[in-house]
Amino acid sequence: MSLIVQKYGGTSVADLERINVVAKRISSTFEQGNDLVVILSAMAGVTDGLISKALQVTTKPDKRELDVLLATGEQITSALMAITLQTMNYSAISLLGFQANVLTNTDHGNARIVEIDTSRISFHLDKRKIVIIAGFQGWDPDKNITTLGRGGSDTSAVAIAAALNADVCEIYTDVDGIYTADPNVCKKARKLDKISYDEILEMASLGAKVLQIRSVEIAKKYNVPVHVRSSFSEEEGTMVVNEYPEMESIIVSGVTSNKDEARITLKQVPDQPGIAEKIFNPITDAGIVVDMIIQNTWVGDTTDITFTVPMGDYEKALEIETEVAKNIMAEEVRGDSNISKVSVTGVGMKNHSGVASLMFKTLAAENINIIMISTSEIRISCVIEEKYTELAVRALHTAFGLDKQ
Ligand code: ADP
Ligand code: ASP
Ligand code: MG
Repeated sequence: MSLIVQKYGGTSVADLERINVVAKRISSTFEQGNDLVVILSAMAGVTDGLISKALQVTTKPDKRELDVLLATGEQITSALMAITLQTMNYSAISLLGFQANVLTNTDHGNARIVEIDTSRISFHLDKRKIVIIAGFQGWDPDKNITTLGRGGSDTSAVAIAAALNADVCEIYTDVDGIYTADPNVCKKARKLDKISYDEILEMASLGAKVLQIRSVEIAKKYNVPVHVRSSFSEEEGTMVVNEYPEMESIIVSGVTSNKDEARITLKQVPDQPGIAEKIFNPITDAGIVVDMIIQNTWVGDTTDITFTVPMGDYEKALEIETEVAKNIMAEEVRGDSNISKVSVTGVGMKNHSGVASLMFKTLAAENINIIMISTSEIRISCVIEEKYTELAVRALHTAFGLDKQ
């Protein structure tokens, strides 16, 4: 007998029919004698719909109230799942984030889990109940409802699995595992049987939304075995594991893309000590995370500085920098949201050269201009024009020998 945590994403519980299918999978896992905790997302499209409703009322909804609204999506699926299981004669109970004691900080819309007191979950498990928990939500020390950021049910699931010391955390989604590239973009992508925590961490932070990045951070920290698989088939999926020696022989294991960034350029900035601080301090103070930065040196005494920020912070960052530009006497500020970042990742890159040059050659052969470049030990990223994203992903996938035969 094992303790299993299963998480079902939005498409897996998109309507009553899907909830019924998932209920059967849950009951069969339970029938095998396992203890079972199930984390649910909202039905596909529901969170987006709730956000757009709030935005119809005001362009800047209060973050606390937005969390109260968004948390309802997961409440609906959790109750419907418990009701469905009960009609099948299983003893099931739904718990909202606060009832499951998922304590978070107060950062509404992007809260971090601080602690999970599992006593109420364990109480019901001891009574052989199937415990259904609404994902994506918790409460803060003042008992306000919080949400964990888009895709946050993955994080709820892995954190609850870690807190319960579960034997496995199964993430059920609409693809049957983690692929060498998004299978919905690159038809030749291959499913990986295994991937290391570090590789999927890197891929998640570069735009592979199959797992929310924080869920991978928690999985790695607490060594939670994570199995990403489909709720639409019985196929084994992908196991997320610790790095093992043979992995280093694979130079590139994945290609990712992210359209969710924008770039800001300050033109003709005086080239003096302290200028970078003046440009980036107000951005950091506003809680905006800068990704890539480049500085072009010019003949004379000015320089151009370009950096990227998440799309959600673009307008704010542009506003801040327009003010900064006036103060530091920069010539002008330009923004561009039609960019995307394509990246190749692989732990084997640590010991191999030539990855960057093959990447640049491949993009050049497709006539794709590289706007910015950044690297880490196991990744190379290029910012390109957004319209070339899919073309770039496919070309890189082929060039690095990842296509399935
Ligand atoms: P869920 O609603 O189940 O949480 P998501 O839409 O958040 O599902 O994540 C699954 C999606 O992630 C897939 O449909 C796929 O398009 C996308 N994806 C991006 N990169 C990858 C990858 N490397 N492997 C698998 N899926 C990926
Ligand atoms: N429903 C939330 C979202 O759409 C959380 C999740 O699905 O993981 O982002
Ligand atoms: Mg998701």
